[in-house]
Amino acid sequence: MQTPDKRREVMRERVASWAQRLNVQPRQVRVQHMTRKWGSCSTAGIVTLAADLADQDLGFQDFVIVHELLHLRVPNHGKLFKALLTAHVPAWQTHASHRTNAKRPTATNESAAKR
Ligand SMILES: [Zn+2]
Repeated sequence: MQTPDKRREVMRERVASWAQRLNVQPRQVRVQHMTRKWGSCSTAGIVTLAADLADQDLGFQDFVIVHELLHLRVPNHGKLFKALLTAHVPAWQTHASHRTNAKRPTATNESAAKR
């Protein structure tokens, strides 16, 4: 069984490998306690992920990681964003409901984009 530190380390490695695949370079990746979101991405290029995302299944982790990393390229949730998300995480829609249903009301500031 993995320790929490080990799981976070593994999650950071997933972020690094996704960043390479997506050809983005976050200025900083933070893993910290978050209660209302699974992840966020600042305009300064800082990606923050919830520490307990490391306990979620890998498909869901990928969805949140790719979602936040893609914001380094596309700041909104428009057509381009959805197309890129679909290309890299084809099953993202199945995760999207989990993302909103599991504990947290919404992961990032999506409410404005959910039209
Ligand atoms: Zn988003």
